[in-house]
Amino acid sequence: MKTIIEPFRIKSVEPLRFTSRSERTQILQAAGYNLFNIHADDVLIDLLTDSGTSAMSARQWGGMIEGDESYAGSRSYHQLEEKVTELTGFRHLIPTHQGRAAEKILFNIVGGQGKIIPNNTHFDTTRANIEVSGAEAVDLLPPAGFDPVAVDAFKGNMDLEAFEALLSKHGAERIPITMLTVTNNSNAGQPVSMENIRRAAEISHRHNIPFFLDACRFAENAYFIKLREPGYQKITVREIAAEMFSYADGCTMSGKKDGLVNMGGFLALNDEELARQARNILVVTEGFPTYGGLAGHDLQAFAIGLDEVLEEDYLKYRIRSVTYLGEHLTELGVPVFQPPGGHAIYIDAGAFLPHIPARQFPGQSLACELYLCGGIRSCEIGSVMFGKTDPTTGDFAPARLEMVRLAIPRRVYTKSHIDYVIECIGDVYRRRNEISGIRIVQEPPILRHFTARFSPL
Ligand SMILES: *Cc1c(COP(=O)(O)O)cnc(C)c1O
Repeated sequence: MKTIIEPFRIKSVEPLRFTSRSERTQILQAAGYNLFNIHADDVLIDLLTDSGTSAMSARQWGGMIEGDESYAGSRSYHQLEEKVTELTGFRHLIPTHQGRAAEKILFNIVGGQGKIIPNNTHFDTTRANIEVSGAEAVDLLPPAGFDPVAVDAFKGNMDLEAFEALLSKHGAERIPITMLTVTNNSNAGQPVSMENIRRAAEISHRHNIPFFLDACRFAENAYFIKLREPGYQKITVREIAAEMFSYADGCTMSGKKDGLVNMGGFLALNDEELARQARNILVVTEGFPTYGGLAGHDLQAFAIGLDEVLEEDYLKYRIRSVTYLGEHLTELGVPVFQPPGGHAIYIDAGAFLPHIPARQFPGQSLACELYLCGGIRSCEIGSVMFGKTDPTTGDFAPARLEMVRLAIPRRVYTKSHIDYVIECIGDVYRRRNEISGIRIVQEPPILRHFTARFSPL
């Protein structure tokens, strides 16, 4: 059979609220043309993020009832620990309320003034936690990784020559840890090959530097390896994931992605002394070591989610359904980052709206238009998020690319929801010449994309 279907049926439904275009025009204006300011009930298809938006299974909801809320030694903790050890082989599990709390603990210990922490591409919370510690976060993505049209199997890979060059320039003493993010979220969810993971680990270990994975989307990455890397076609995704973790000394994880839960995360590692220090911080900032930042029922659902995310029928449907959206948009002529990544499709808004200069935020204009057209909420990843305007001179430095991300929540939307999104984007694309730019009327000093207000030009 050629048709790939959702590998589940629906037991509990959540109604969507339909709005008219004139209602959406008013809602958007009241929100200052910032989709973060819109009430979720006014959104029809919410593709803002895939983080914490997964639908849990009946088994996970059953686990929520079975969760053990004991302060110390909770059975649910031990079930999660067993799953994490089985999956990663790491000896110590430090549960946190989400991924960034694991990062905070890790970089509190290994970061600090004068330190440098390399990654293929740091996710923004990872970069922020490193910088808050006083250390420097360095991205080592090869130039091809930034090219939206080049088709390559593993565009998330770390540039290993650049990694070696960084080591010779600064010396291993300044690099307390190497990170590698799988899949590479900040680079359109592109996967990292097993070869790249293995070689990055080898280089790191040759210099006695611990090697950690940012494992938020480890299962999606493992599935891409199965599909694309020679020699892995006959190996189970579970074994591929185990091999990925076998090269690492630890990982940070957000359960809100491939944990298939709405809240949760962990730090897992082998080093006894590092684990001891991490637990000391954990009890002060998150909670006792056997619950960290989570309720017993969260730990329980997380343990089940880590099992379900490795089911190959699920991963086949997951990766295929994101690719389906990308392929159909490409067929319509819509410029999208190639090839489709694991959790999202990124529209190249600069190419979609070539008549709008970067300083008039084509990504934000497009995101607003998708909301007006069909109640679709997407996320600008361009000059609103990463561009900079000098407050005194007014000089404008644009982002590298003007993107709009359509992130796909896990197990939430059906094929007809996605068909609706394709139709809506096709309609906007046909009318693209009528779309105008946007300007910022009010912005906070940092992370302006969350709260800035805009006005159409
Ligand atoms: C989401 C994410 C994080 C942070 O996790 P939170 O649970 O949102 O705190 C870190 N790294 C990557 C790659 C992520 O996608």
